[in-house]
Amino acid sequence: MTERIDGHTLLIGLMAYPIRHSMSPTMHNNAFAKLGLNYAYLAFEVDNDTLPSAIQSIRTLDMRGSNISMPNKQKVIPLLDKLDPAAEMVGAVNTVVNDDGILTGYTTDGIGFMKSLDDEGIDIRGQKMTLAGAGGAGTAIAVQAALDGVKEMSIFNQHDAEWENAKRNVKLINEKTDCHATLHELEDRDDFKKEIQSSFIYTDSTGVGMKPLEDKTLVDDPSWFNNPDLVVFDTVYAPRETKLMKVAKQAGLKHVFNGLGMMLEQGAAAFKLWTNKDMPVDYIRHILF
Ligand code: NAD
Repeated sequence: MTERIDGHTLLIGLMAYPIRHSMSPTMHNNAFAKLGLNYAYLAFEVDNDTLPSAIQSIRTLDMRGSNISMPNKQKVIPLLDKLDPAAEMVGAVNTVVNDDGILTGYTTDGIGFMKSLDDEGIDIRGQKMTLAGAGGAGTAIAVQAALDGVKEMSIFNQHDAEWENAKRNVKLINEKTDCHATLHELEDRDDFKKEIQSSFIYTDSTGVGMKPLEDKTLVDDPSWFNNPDLVVFDTVYAPRETKLMKVAKQAGLKHVFNGLGMMLEQGAAAFKLWTNKDMPVDYIRHILF
C-alpha cells in the first residue's frame, strides 16, 4: 500500500456508522493494487449529524467519491447535486461520484443483483419474479430488475414498517417502467406459494436465514419448489448456505444462489463508476472469502 500512495493518490471514502466491520476497504484497496490504480479507500465513522460536513469534504478535498451506508443512505440525497434515475426511484444512495465538484448519487445494490445473475448465465429479463421483502435491498432489487426488463413482479411483505414502502415500490414500478408489479401479503401462504410456482425466479431479500434467524426460512416445504428450473436467490451471504437454499436444493433445484455475488458486484459497479475500470471480481472473491 505505501508503495502506491504518493502526492497524486485520489481518496475514496466510506461514510457510515458503525463501519469498522466493513469488507469494502479490503475489497477496493486490493483491486486498486491489482490494477495499479492510484486510489486509496478509507472508512470513516459518519452519522446523520456529521454527514453534511463529511459530504462537503468530498468537494473540499477533491475526493473521487464515497460509498454511503447506514444510517446515511437516504439522508445524503439532499446534500448531492444530481441523482442517477435508479437512485431517485429507490430513494437511497450507496455511491457518490465527484466530477469536478459536482456530486452524483447512485445505487449499485440492484445492479449487483442483476450482474451476479448474469455472471451465472441467468437472464431474468422478460420473466416473472416473486420477491419477498421491500426494505433497502428489496427496493434496490425490485427497481433495477424492473428497469432492466423483468416483465412481471409479485412483491410480498409482512404487515410491518416496510409495508408502506412495498406499496410505494409497486406504484413506482408500474408508473415508471414496463414491468407489471403487484403487492401481496406475506401472511397469505396460499398466494405466496402460487406466485412462487408461477415465477422464473424467487428472491428473498428479508434477511430471514441470517443471524439470529439462521434456522428460519419463509419457505420450509420443498414441495413448493415443484419446478426444477426455478431460480432461488437469497440476498444473505453469511451463512453461505441459508435454510432457504437447503430447502431449494432438497427440492432438486439447480439454480440456487446466496448474496455473495451480489455483494461483490455492487462493489464492482461502484469501482467502475469511480475508476472506469472493471474490478477483478474473481481475484477479490478469492481474497475476501
Ligand atoms: P431492511 O431492514 O431494510 O429490510 C428488511 C425486509 O425484510 C423488510 O421488507 C421487512 O419487512 C422484511 N422482514 C424482516 N424480518 C422479516 C421476517 N421475520 N419475516 C418476513 N419478512 C421480514 O434490510 P435490508 O437492508 O433490505 O437487508 C435485508 C437482507 O439483505 C439482509 O440479510 C442483508 O444482509 C441482505 N443484503 C445483502 C446485500 C448483498 O449485497 N448481498 C446487500 C444488501 C442487503
